[in-house]
Amino acid sequence: MTDGAKKKIIKEIKVDLDKCIGCRACEVACSAFHASPKYSSTNPARSRIRVVIDDLNDVYVPIRGGDYTPAECTGRHTYSINGKEYRECSFCGVSCPARDLFKEPDSGLPLKCDMCEDDPPLDEPMCVQVCPHDALIYEERQEEGEQVETREELEIGLESLAKKFGRQKVMDAVARMSMSKKS
Ligand code: SF4
Ligand code: SF4
Repeated sequence: MTDGAKKKIIKEIKVDLDKCIGCRACEVACSAFHASPKYSSTNPARSRIRVVIDDLNDVYVPIRGGDYTPAECTGRHTYSINGKEYRECSFCGVSCPARDLFKEPDSGLPLKCDMCEDDPPLDEPMCVQVCPHDALIYEERQEEGEQVETREELEIGLESLAKKFGRQKVMDAVARMSMSKKS
């Protein structure tokens, strides 16, 4: 890439909370897309999007898995929505030692939204495609600067995971993920 063409593509999924009905189709689609072989199984526990559901108060909040954190945060705030209190953790998009969200159920390895990277690329991520109420809105824009996930950053991320989970476990998971991308 030349200096003059240093642009990064920012991919984002916005959520329209007023439209979400808590059907969890996004969880099912995400887990199917990332199954190995692809679409061979569905298991929302393996999904990189999870829906916080309070159906009594009609509150549904889809959260996508973000960066893994090796330690619990110190945030202990609560939020009140329609009279019900939620811990800050409910809305956090990381896999963290304090809870089971965004972790592979069998290996405990973190699950992070990868925007359904595929070859050839999808027009829109799976969760966006299947949402029956258009509650998830995919957006792409270009910004000045280097692409966010450089090789160096990827290596630092893998190193940190290897320290926590063991190199072999991480390598096995990476191999499984690349098999799933090929299938
Ligand atoms: S963009 Fe893809 S990987 Fe991310 S939550 Fe949606 S379906 Fe899962
Ligand atoms: S598929 Fe759409 S409406 Fe259903 S839970 Fe997910 S975001 Fe909400």
